[in-house]
Amino acid sequence: MIEQEWRSPYRGSAIFLGSQMKRPIDEREHSSLGLDAPISRRDFLNGGLVAAGSILAPPANSATADTFTGYGGVGDYARSNGDTLPVVQAAHRLRDAGYSNSAMASAQDAGQFDLVIVGGGIAALSAAHRYRQLRGAGARILILENHPMPGGEAKQNEFEVGGTRLLGPQGSNDFGQPGRRRDSLTDSFFEEFALPRDYQWQAWDSALRPLRFARDNYSNMDGFQETQVDVGYFFDRAQGAEEPGWRRNIWSSGLKETPYSEAARRDLLRWRADHGALSEAENRHLDTLTYREYLEKVRGYDAAVVRMVEPIVGLLAGVSSDAASARLGRQLVQDPSRPMALSFPGGNSPFPRALLRALLPSALPGRDFDSLMYGNLNFGALDSASENVRMRLEATALRVQHLGDQEVEVVYARDRRLFKVRASRLVMATGGWVNKHLLVDMPEDLRSAYEQFFYAPALIVNVALRQWRFLYDLDVTACRWFDDADGIGYCCNLRQNMVTAKHAPPLHPDKPAVLSFYLGLPVPGLPAAKQGMAARARLLNTSYADFEVMIRKQMLRLFAASGFIPKRDIAAIVLNRWGHARLIEPPGFHYGLDGKPSPLERVREGYGRISIGHSELNGAQHWGSALEYGRKAAEQAASGA
Ligand SMILES: Cc1cc2nc3c(=O)[nH]c(=O)nc-3n(C[C@H](O)[C@H](O)[C@H](O)COP(=O)(O)OP(=O)(O)OC[C@H]3O[C@@H](n4cnc5c(N)ncnc54)[C@H](O)[C@@H]3O)c2cc1C
Repeated sequence: MIEQEWRSPYRGSAIFLGSQMKRPIDEREHSSLGLDAPISRRDFLNGGLVAAGSILAPPANSATADTFTGYGGVGDYARSNGDTLPVVQAAHRLRDAGYSNSAMASAQDAGQFDLVIVGGGIAALSAAHRYRQLRGAGARILILENHPMPGGEAKQNEFEVGGTRLLGPQGSNDFGQPGRRRDSLTDSFFEEFALPRDYQWQAWDSALRPLRFARDNYSNMDGFQETQVDVGYFFDRAQGAEEPGWRRNIWSSGLKETPYSEAARRDLLRWRADHGALSEAENRHLDTLTYREYLEKVRGYDAAVVRMVEPIVGLLAGVSSDAASARLGRQLVQDPSRPMALSFPGGNSPFPRALLRALLPSALPGRDFDSLMYGNLNFGALDSASENVRMRLEATALRVQHLGDQEVEVVYARDRRLFKVRASRLVMATGGWVNKHLLVDMPEDLRSAYEQFFYAPALIVNVALRQWRFLYDLDVTACRWFDDADGIGYCCNLRQNMVTAKHAPPLHPDKPAVLSFYLGLPVPGLPAAKQGMAARARLLNTSYADFEVMIRKQMLRLFAASGFIPKRDIAAIVLNRWGHARLIEPPGFHYGLDGKPSPLERVREGYGRISIGHSELNGAQHWGSALEYGRKAAEQAASGA
């Protein structure tokens, strides 16, 4: 457990990293934060704040949810919000070699398959689907997934607030408007799985003041799409504001209403206009620099630019601008006039669910889009001996190795017992942070390629609100702030939700909605790998209760003046922690280091009977790269089977 303070380079304020709040909260504050309200969180916290002390220890009473995972919402996903305590504990046992070889040798035999796939995200399901297309419906496939729900990072949170069902994304969230391009894997996916291409969105009451919403959780983040979303920026004294307060849609007025200096305004506007495709040679050059070097030395921008981009880079690249490559950083600046990205109510969860339904129709009954989005899983049909495709949940793979030339063996843990399965081919649809530990017989060159893979975490918080008039009164639907001292994050927004026949929550300031916070936890000043570790320590060593206090305080600081009352307005808070959300791409990673090829190339090759297919093999991960690399791994496996 780390217990330290980190000095922000931007305002000299101490930002807390660790398991407990810097300052205990007193009874008055407890009440003003709404911590005494009878809301969903208290189902497991048992009415009071829990001291964080040993949050990674198993909960004393397993019948109540633990103080790390916290409240998980309702429905099938309620036990599977991000990396929950059981998942983290199982992963740490794996990392710390907590299973002896003799225990693994005596694991119970659980059968033989044509293909075993480790992982249950989009890449894994894409691999299963492609393998079956190539080898026929008779191919026997086993998918091992360590979470209680399939989908990986493309899962959803569900809430019931005052009789209204609300959905929010756990992580993987947006997609581009699908066209009808045959050469695009994502477009042909929509065709193959008959996903809708035309959408209805929540209607806005014309009696209310006009207000523009993002249809995902990214468009608002950087102000690039302020052309389509109403974004509020909260400036405090540290940002040069005489009085802390809001400025709305700052870019459309050329930043004139902001407290920035002339030089800062000029450079921020230049930064925002610096987008568009670069040549291969230009990208290669940018891959030799950090983004911060690019901003400060190459472009010579005012320090306000780094302050503006830092949390965006921290979320999307996983690390701060002084550790991310300039190639990646520059790609984050988008053309403000591009079409807005879209999002299903539960983020990208329909993609893995569509694949699952195709593989195992009885596991996700129904044919319509509503049941695809949030119909209940038939868990009993996932792992049935009568099916050729089987998915085993809460099964953590522990060791993968060849048995001679013809077979691969996987040892996995489930219900505190060890099992082993054999297959003639295996796909690892998991990231390098897992594969490094599991692939015990990997060749040296693959091992050294993986030594260059480092990861950063992300935290996605969905706050279910009973009403959001405090945002309406600010005339914004998305917010950005700059100072997370003793607080959390840098942006949040309400989406205009896609509506369907059976899912049509209202869009009204007096009605329930989900406010989502997307944040990375970058630690400027540290090298990329160490940033990932320090950020992960913060993510994993902070209890649910402490994060909850930080979120409530942050919201109070931002919205108290416009009428936010935590006790009245917050119905529930769900944390989705992702310990290894992003593969970090420091300079040199994408095009190779010291004349050697990028480590990505070596990992894509796999070895022996083991193919590797995960979205990270693209570098920047997205649902399309998960589809693509899952497919490629299946094609490799099928061609050599
Ligand atoms: C916070 C966040 C936001 C994102 N936003 C977007 C977005 O808006 N749009 C977009 O397109 N993409 C987004 N992504 C990228 C996302 O990674 C991809 O879209 C996609 O969901 C990744 O799928 P995958 O199958 O490659 O990997 P994963 O989803 O990581 O799947 C790997 C699976 O393997 C399982 N696993 C791990 N270890 C073991 C083990 N030992 N045994 C068994 N199973 C194991 C994991 O539980 C997981 O289910 C986001 C990612 C994150 C983290």
